[in-house]
Amino acid sequence: MNVLVLNCGSSTVKFQLIATDLGIIERNEDKRLASGYVERVGGEAIITLNAEGRDEQRLTESLRDMRAAVDFIIRWATSEGAGISGVKSIADIHAIGHRVVHGGERFTHSVLITDEVLRGIEDCVELAPLHNPANIKGIQAARHLFGPGLPQVAVFDTAFHQTLPEKAYLYAIPYQFYRRYKVRRYGFHGTSHRYVAYRYRQLRNITREQTNIITLHLGNGCSAAAIRGGDSIDTSMGMTPLEGLVMGTRSGDIDPAIIDYLAIKEGLTIHQIESLLNKQSGLIGISGLTNDMRELMEEAHENNDRRARLAIEIFSYRARKYIGSYLAAMGGADAIVFTGGIGENSPEVRSLICDGLQWMGLELDGERNAKCTNGCEGLISTESSRLAAYTIPTDEELLIARDTVRSVQGAPQRY
Ligand code: ADP
Repeated sequence: MNVLVLNCGSSTVKFQLIATDLGIIERNEDKRLASGYVERVGGEAIITLNAEGRDEQRLTESLRDMRAAVDFIIRWATSEGAGISGVKSIADIHAIGHRVVHGGERFTHSVLITDEVLRGIEDCVELAPLHNPANIKGIQAARHLFGPGLPQVAVFDTAFHQTLPEKAYLYAIPYQFYRRYKVRRYGFHGTSHRYVAYRYRQLRNITREQTNIITLHLGNGCSAAAIRGGDSIDTSMGMTPLEGLVMGTRSGDIDPAIIDYLAIKEGLTIHQIESLLNKQSGLIGISGLTNDMRELMEEAHENNDRRARLAIEIFSYRARKYIGSYLAAMGGADAIVFTGGIGENSPEVRSLICDGLQWMGLELDGERNAKCTNGCEGLISTESSRLAAYTIPTDEELLIARDTVRSVQGAPQRY
């Protein structure tokens, strides 16, 4: 089956075309046929396209809305120019898998999209007003272009964390707010945490039930998950992705009383403060320079910029504190797994995070850690380290394609 994986944001679409089916999944031989990224949907869009065995193409095109963007992707993927083997017309795309950010408490697994499911995703808009509307537009655009006969599947960022126990997902605020409005921790990046947990057990040749790890997804957004017996039992993002670790532009945990204090001092509305915590805080807020970890590293090393160093230090310190608290919550773990742009590519940040965890048996292997960048997958701690550390590049698109195949073919989901 050729599965088109769509990740639709407010003005962006990421896509991949993946050839897979139930037998291919068992053999781990899924094939990536094409991928791409459309930015600035709604105006003069910038488009990056990659087809197997061809040079990357970059172009601009006026794309008025999500439907125009999805239409562009399909026309390109099926064109002779793209030259994707086995994809000559729209009939060669057999299913679509959508990344959907918020599935609330209703969606604990990936599902085939029906009218009722779509209404369920719409019901979650309140919980994710910035994200779910874009995902819905992507689903509607694909339905319009392919017709209702083409199976579409929704894969939720929150689903993997639906195994959290009450004590981990409830906030200590009056209980009626949970009952009335479902205010609770949902957690995000679930597909990424789930993927690296799956790869970890493959690398170690162990079962899901034997998987006791802490996963750290460190990208522009950052989150940690405590995975015990294969299930997510705690995670750092909350009702929204704002809580938890320090991120590129998000503050992560703060004292909620700061909101009122700043509102008075700066004459800001709650909405403005929320925007400040989401868009102008984290690495960019502390450094005053950039939300990009690579650039911060350059500033710290080449210009010895004090606030760049401080931002990196606070980022690493917060991550280390979460590792400590999850070790306590889980009663110990076998490994820490790093993923995401920073987790996969920065030996220095990994080392700063792990520094200070020697007392509890974590010893990074300097050489392995330094070498593990750019898609490298494997152990980065010493053989004798009691708590192991791994780097595992994430691949959310692959899980979305596989969930799509399983949903379409009525096979059980694997989590
Ligand atoms: P997203 O969450 O948007 O998918 P990524 O997972 O691609 O983002 O992560 C982006 C982050 O990864 C940026 O902060 C970027 O600077 C960082 N990053 C990428 N490569 C490196 C590197 N070699 N060293 C440090 N940080 C890196």
